[in-house]
Amino acid sequence: MEQKELLRKLPSVDEVLKSPYGIKWLKAYPRRYILQAIRNIIAFKRTEILEGFIPDVSLNAISRDIEIKIEKLVERRLRPVINATGVVIHTNLGRAPLPPEVLNNIMDVATGYSNLEYNLEEGRRGERYDHVRWILKDITGAEDAVVVNNNAAAVLLCLSAIARGREVIVSRGELIEIGGSFRIPDVMLQSGALLKEVGTTNRTNSGDYEDSVDEQTALLLKVHQSNYKVIGFTEDVSIGELVGIGKRMGVPVMFDLGSGCFTDLKPYGIHDEPVVHEIVSEGVDIVTFSGDKLLGGPQAGIIVGRKALVERIARHPLARALRIDKLTLAALEATLLCHADPGKARERIPVLRTLLQGDEVIRRRAKKIQLLIKRNVRNAQVSIEKDESQAGGGSLPGVYLPTYVVALKVKGMSAPAVEQRLRRGAVAVITRIRAGTVVLDARTIRDSEVKPLLKAIKEAIC
Ligand SMILES: *Cc1c(COP(=O)(O)O)cnc(C)c1O
Repeated sequence: MEQKELLRKLPSVDEVLKSPYGIKWLKAYPRRYILQAIRNIIAFKRTEILEGFIPDVSLNAISRDIEIKIEKLVERRLRPVINATGVVIHTNLGRAPLPPEVLNNIMDVATGYSNLEYNLEEGRRGERYDHVRWILKDITGAEDAVVVNNNAAAVLLCLSAIARGREVIVSRGELIEIGGSFRIPDVMLQSGALLKEVGTTNRTNSGDYEDSVDEQTALLLKVHQSNYKVIGFTEDVSIGELVGIGKRMGVPVMFDLGSGCFTDLKPYGIHDEPVVHEIVSEGVDIVTFSGDKLLGGPQAGIIVGRKALVERIARHPLARALRIDKLTLAALEATLLCHADPGKARERIPVLRTLLQGDEVIRRRAKKIQLLIKRNVRNAQVSIEKDESQAGGGSLPGVYLPTYVVALKVKGMSAPAVEQRLRRGAVAVITRIRAGTVVLDARTIRDSEVKPLLKAIKEAIC
């Protein structure tokens, strides 16, 4: 009896939709997801009733559940997270966070028309690359520059334009794989160029290159060992030597730098990362690098080098398929302007700032987080420990970045459970587990994130 009565009282989809709630939702959310949520919640209540429960089936109660459901359905899938992993350029977490000042540039270009491919001076068609060409030439010292979607695209395009159907000589020690199935031999195959391996995994000398060059050779390619190191009994040919060989034998030389750093990191104890303008000044014909690794900008692939080659690359049919989008271009232009002043770049580009942060700044932030957790989160046991952060994103392998982490233990909860709850919260916090304890690396947590972080921790474990 009770059951029948309840089922009868359960409002229909139409009743809910036409109620003041429905009218309110229609103004804010897409109709299809409102309907989906209403149907879903009514069906759920019906099942509950049939199973013998006595749910509140008033319009008010049902609407509350429906609204939660709608919000869940239309919730942003791509959203910000707090990176507490200590990996500065985290490939899975969006790589480089942009400097806030580039946002104005993106907004202006995104919401209106722009001179993307229009020459305002002459009143005719222009090139999208022109907007960043001048500053790339200025910063790197190269004769010309062109930009594409990412560095993988840059390498593919260069190989296609320069070496299709001919041979490219690469040291066996540099046949790299970057995450996401980017392998030099595979990219080579896709470009239509033929890979000619020289030397061995650990040792390649200039004679190896010289002996391999013949009339089929289109290019000598050097690839920066961005995410691994070969140590022990090793030898490789420096880019300067390779340029010498290329000149003597009349073959162009390309260097895929991967990260592409504009700032000299040697004063900070980081010695293995080449600076782009130094590489260009060695006389390399083509240099490729990413926009969102150590450059700290948007995803992009930057190609700089000799004018004749860059022009050939830019004119290649693939360039159209791999071209850079206007929003990215706007962000890249603003990022490059930040780099024009190395001192300012170090302060304003988040990747550089996070990477070059002093110990003391990190320790103080860790201390603050520890204190806040101690004061506000029952059940939590927190301590500060020394640890090591990583540059990540396939850059600076083996570089030691001393840091401080907040080790977080929760009574009655395992570390994997804590890690999971932090990751699944309304504000997701990505942590790592070290020796059975969740640790929050204070290096990659921004000061503005400390409060949201505390809230997320409270929600996850209280
Ligand atoms: C990262 C990297 C790439 C690929 O660059 P994306 O910008 O990720 O496409 C290519 N070559 C090297 C050496 C790299 O380190």
